[in-house]
Amino acid sequence: METPPKAVKESRLSPLSNEEATNLLASAKEAREKAYAPYSMYKVGSAILSKSGNIYEGANIENASYGATICAERVALGNMIMGGDTEIRAVAVFTEDAGFPCGICIQALNEFAPDIKSCQIVVPSKGGFTVRTLDELAPYLWRSELVKKAKGK
Ligand SMILES: [Zn+2]
Repeated sequence: METPPKAVKESRLSPLSNEEATNLLASAKEAREKAYAPYSMYKVGSAILSKSGNIYEGANIENASYGATICAERVALGNMIMGGDTEIRAVAVFTEDAGFPCGICIQALNEFAPDIKSCQIVVPSKGGFTVRTLDELAPYLWRSELVKKAKGK
């Protein structure tokens, strides 16, 4: 009899309060000032709130070799890892048009979000902010459990 795959270990995260979302978005807006975007002129700021309560900022860094460009969310993610945190509670993204993270960033963030159903993505909207969970943005993300399963481990 085949053994069913183990359930994905999830730990539910509490929803952001209005104050937490507002503060996180303010950090992302501030980070945007450091963006290096001389080619697209599309500046992005991001701020990650870790499960332990720390905030890590990032801004997009473009390159003359466009493929070497890195998004604000992945810069913030690198700062989080270097800061010693490994679990994301929420991510704020600040752009001129309230854009959500791109697909590559969603996949990268997912690696450090134990529960994609409660990991929140915050973007500005008129007079406030809009929140979506990682799961709502991309419900079929590739997870480490799938890699281990594919390798038979
Ligand atoms: Zn991105």
